[in-house]
Amino acid sequence: NAKQAGGDTLRFFDPATQEQLQRRARLEADLRQALPRGELLLHYQPQVRDDGKLVGAEALVRWEHPTRGMISPGDFIPLAEENRLILPIGAWVLEAACRQLAAWAADPVMADLTLSVNVSSQQFREGGLAEKVLAILTRTGARPERLKLEVTESLFVRDRDDARETMLSLKEHGVTFALDDFGTGYSSLSYLKRLPLDQLKIDQSFVFDLLEDEASAAIVASTIALSESLQLQVIAEGVETEAQRAWLMAHGCRFFQGYLFSRPVPVEDLEAAIHAT
Ligand code: C2E
Ligand code: MG
Ligand code: MG
Ligand code: MG
Repeated sequence: NAKQAGGDTLRFFDPATQEQLQRRARLEADLRQALPRGELLLHYQPQVRDDGKLVGAEALVRWEHPTRGMISPGDFIPLAEENRLILPIGAWVLEAACRQLAAWAADPVMADLTLSVNVSSQQFREGGLAEKVLAILTRTGARPERLKLEVTESLFVRDRDDARETMLSLKEHGVTFALDDFGTGYSSLSYLKRLPLDQLKIDQSFVFDLLEDEASAAIVASTIALSESLQLQVIAEGVETEAQRAWLMAHGCRFFQGYLFSRPVPVEDLEAAIHAT
């Protein structure tokens, strides 16, 4: 009807929306150039065991934009997932992470670290992911046992069998898998029975209000118990306070990642911190 049409027209010409669309289009054009211009880099966030030992790190991509400064992945990964730029970006991340792993192998203090790398569901759907990862491992000389791929529940909503096949081929070579942001997706728990996962990552949204919110506390305690029954390692992300760490430890969680230990940092900072301990 006329009133509705008028509303749509108004919304279409809404200057704020127009501006948003333009900003987005500019960002997208810039993002296309980011890889060829070498503007992407990785930061590393430590993963710590309950005895305080640093056992691994998560590689987190950053975009050093020529005029806007450092842009965090939350502001460009969703965009990249919409326009398939995530495929070349994801491939670059894997290669850069494996190059880093190979470099660490020569340093006795770094050689035992596991490196976790986020992989988008689209990288699985594109096909050939196992072959691509194996080629990168060969090319860089990184040890597969040191590489952990972080996947999200969105991977298991569709194409579950394909994802399983890919994971199994990589696991044959020693690559491990973590389920990131556990509990925030829309998929059922039944995939936990069939997928070759090694680790569950408790999402930071539950860790955040663990001590104030009974529901979050219950979800975290259940996730830890579930991991134990399924013989999966469990790691809590977003641990910011000693009180949260103590609660998690008391409930059986032995691995942590969060600002309490360190923010994501450039590789030199991570290496310096480990050599200092
Ligand atoms: P994620 O994989 O769940 O990574 C954890 C995010 O939580 C990181 O944000 C990290 O900086 C942040 N974080 C860690 N500890 C704390 C804490 O104690 N408190 C708080 N408030 N936050 C904490 P970041 O680096 O901005 O990354 C955001 C998301 O972007 C990641 O979430 C991941 O989903 C995505 N992402 C990052 N790098 C890549 C990548 O290379 N490929 C893909 N596909 N996605 C990526
Ligand atoms: Mg992650
Ligand atoms: Mg996460
Ligand atoms: Mg998250």
